[in-house]
Amino acid sequence: MGRTVVVLGGGISGLAASYHLSRAPCPPKVVLVEASERLGGWIRSVRGPGGAIFELGPRGIRPAGALGARTLLLVSELGLDSEVLPVRGDHPAAKNRFLYVGGALHALPSGLRGLFRPSPPFSKPLFWAGLRELTAPRGKDPDETVHSFAQRRLGPEVASLAMDSLCRGVFAGNSRELSVRSCFPSLFQAEQTHRSVLLGLLLGAGQSPQPDSALISQARAERWSQWSLRGGLETLPQALNTHLTSRGVRILRGQPVCGLSLQADRRWKVSLGDSSLDADHVISAVPASVLGKLLPAEAAPLARALSAITAVSVAVVNLQYRGARLPVQGFGHLVPSSEDPGVLGIVYDSVAFPEQDGSPPGLRVTVMLGGSWLQTLEARGAVFSQELLQQQAQEAAATQLGLKEPPSHCLVHLHKNCIPQYTLGHWQKLEAATQFLASQRLPLTLAGASYEGVAVNDCIESGRQAAARVLGSEPDS
Ligand SMILES: Cc1cc2nc3c(=O)[nH]c(=O)nc-3n(C[C@H](O)[C@H](O)[C@H](O)COP(=O)(O)OP(=O)(O)OC[C@H]3O[C@@H](n4cnc5c(N)ncnc54)[C@H](O)[C@@H]3O)c2cc1C
Repeated sequence: MGRTVVVLGGGISGLAASYHLSRAPCPPKVVLVEASERLGGWIRSVRGPGGAIFELGPRGIRPAGALGARTLLLVSELGLDSEVLPVRGDHPAAKNRFLYVGGALHALPSGLRGLFRPSPPFSKPLFWAGLRELTAPRGKDPDETVHSFAQRRLGPEVASLAMDSLCRGVFAGNSRELSVRSCFPSLFQAEQTHRSVLLGLLLGAGQSPQPDSALISQARAERWSQWSLRGGLETLPQALNTHLTSRGVRILRGQPVCGLSLQADRRWKVSLGDSSLDADHVISAVPASVLGKLLPAEAAPLARALSAITAVSVAVVNLQYRGARLPVQGFGHLVPSSEDPGVLGIVYDSVAFPEQDGSPPGLRVTVMLGGSWLQTLEARGAVFSQELLQQQAQEAAATQLGLKEPPSHCLVHLHKNCIPQYTLGHWQKLEAATQFLASQRLPLTLAGASYEGVAVNDCIESGRQAAARVLGSEPDS
């Protein structure tokens, strides 16, 4: 009888793991178990008036690097090439990014010449930060917060304005708590290997082998900065669902896993409330803290390491305006915590993907709320009303972008614990988990945003690698 692999969680990580398992020459029996009635996890696209698309989660995927290329390969294998909406290198959404500081929008310098020009809100041209970086000694600690790393290498302004904002934009997190080693491994590695991040990034670029396809070549030739899909990014999990079903993968929805126990024959019993599944191997693609609660008592050390990986919440407010114009054209802007503790940034969705504006078209922007403002309210047990979040977002759009008229359409979603936080020492939690799994020879493999990257590309890669490990083949690097 063939092996049975049960995959926990039908977000993009669990779907990717199931996809790669199902394509093996001799595939195991695969059962994907998802708690909700929908697949895709945080990837969710909603159609609004006139067919406009509103992304409640991710809205753009980066094509760069080996992982970006692999996701494009997946897109082609699923037959989605004609649905791809690229943002080409010469487009304003690829070239222009802004910081909102001191009550004004500031364009981040682009290109080499930009480094030599004065670039407010920074007091000196960024060339000086670059010079400091090239000459700063290598750090000695096994890990460091993003803030401390940036301050040491690039100076206090870059740390408190640029890196603080970047951490808010990518992780909705605090640069004084997040780990540079785990959140920005390429920066950490560049310093370790070449003493300087700039040197490391320059000398180390383009070394990893990358897959090729017509879509990947097009993305390279046109220097795409990101891409989406015509009907929204949720088209990707939907296509994976169709593909998996055609390959005989059993998909159970609306079935929260409520416990895992190891039987005498070292097979898992996966409890689903009223029923259960037997599995030779489990791939977990649910958040680490969720898995921590499902594990049996004999895996307590693993459960402790996983439960220490926390996550933060983000309120996503999609706004659409009729007849309105943005003061600038670009991807969007980020807001450092010193400027506003609650507004992480605003994405100008219509600039990157005007095809999704609906008919008649209306300007779409998304305000991301989070940070210490949300954390403090959450810690106080505050009940978040839709009105409060909408008001906060509209005020930000009015103050920061001059969008003072009421929006014609608004969606408000509070995503609880949606972004894992790789805080200082995250690598030690991963090491403790990996060591426990190896020493106990547990038939369990971890995948998902909780471990080694939160971007959609990272999650898809984590699913691919988990599948390769289960199939007994090391994934190609
Ligand atoms: C607001 C927001 C914006 C983002 N923007 C971007 C972006 O622009 N670009 C980008 O690359 N990335 C972005 N990301 C990150 C990226 O979308 C996520 O990290 C990624 O989708 C996570 O996928 P996952 O499968 O690992 O986890 P999840 O999406 O969390 O999936 C886990 C699944 O497990 C299920 N589950 C939970 N408990 C159980 C249980 N007990 N039993 C069974 N199933 C269970 C859940 O219902 C869920 O479907 C964004 C994330 C958010 C929240």
